[in-house]
Amino acid sequence: VFSPIREFSGKIAVLQRAAASLDQIFGLLAHQEADALEGPGATPLPGASRPIALRDVRFGYSRGHDVLQGLDLRIEPGQVVAVVGRTGSGKSTLARLLLRVYSGYRGSIRIGDIELSNLSARSVREAIGLVAQDVILFPGDVRFNLTLGAPISDLALAEAIRLASADAVVERLGGLGGRIEHAGANLSVGEAQLLAFARVLAHDPPMVILDEATAAVDTLTEAAIQRATEALLARKTVLVIAHRLTTVARADRIAVIHEGRVVESGTHAELLAAGGRYADLVAHALENAR
Ligand code: ATP
Ligand code: MG
Repeated sequence: VFSPIREFSGKIAVLQRAAASLDQIFGLLAHQEADALEGPGATPLPGASRPIALRDVRFGYSRGHDVLQGLDLRIEPGQVVAVVGRTGSGKSTLARLLLRVYSGYRGSIRIGDIELSNLSARSVREAIGLVAQDVILFPGDVRFNLTLGAPISDLALAEAIRLASADAVVERLGGLGGRIEHAGANLSVGEAQLLAFARVLAHDPPMVILDEATAAVDTLTEAAIQRATEALLARKTVLVIAHRLTTVARADRIAVIHEGRVVESGTHAELLAAGGRYADLVAHALENAR
């Protein structure tokens, strides 16, 4: 009699833990989007490349401290605009605002002629692809990690993988059915990056934000990442948060962010000639590469 009783009381603890977890899960399911922008009032963004115009944008994560302090920036359709600046200057914050991860900015962000805060978050995220600094991968096969459930044919996936120079990675994993572990544990940082490029190229959004990662990768992977970057820049309207000199130099226009503002803007040649902050950054980068 004693041992079944002991077993039963053990099960009660398990049930209690499960009940607590269920509470959290139901809480998450019941969560409403803060500004309920998927409702009838939300304007869907038409799926084409449009100019993106930021005017005097201010935003902070906490009250009283703004990360972006009056940022002006314009990206024309088909253009590649590179944003450079010191670590912590607010570059990824800008990307998060554009993708509506955070709302509550002041000033104006217009995509086409519609204010971002009036657009449906879903349509914005469908129109603007993201290659983030840290790639998020899910436990599952390669196919799911690239499509994320969207109806994309294997043929289109293969083409995206080729463009992203991710062939070798996918092959090593065992093709589209190959398994990816939780958080991409069976992939190197560089390999995960390549899959992120393939994911965006497969979804083929008209606009893309590329937040370049700084992680050190071997020269082969570096070359593959550069080819993937080039494939992306050549096809899309891109806002690239750039760390690689090759990417910056390739951009149509460069904006230098400092203390939450654009302090310099122009082409690589113009900014070098101006001899300001950008010229300093390039000089430093070349010094380090030596
Ligand atoms: P890096 O070049 O290192 O990627 P960054 O320019 O992308 O830097 P951001 O990530 O935009 O920098 O961060 C800008 C500032 O905002 C930093 O001071 C950072 O500490 C702060 N910050 C970023 N994310 C959050 C957050 N979720 N909550 C609070 N503060 C944040
Ligand atoms: Mg960043």
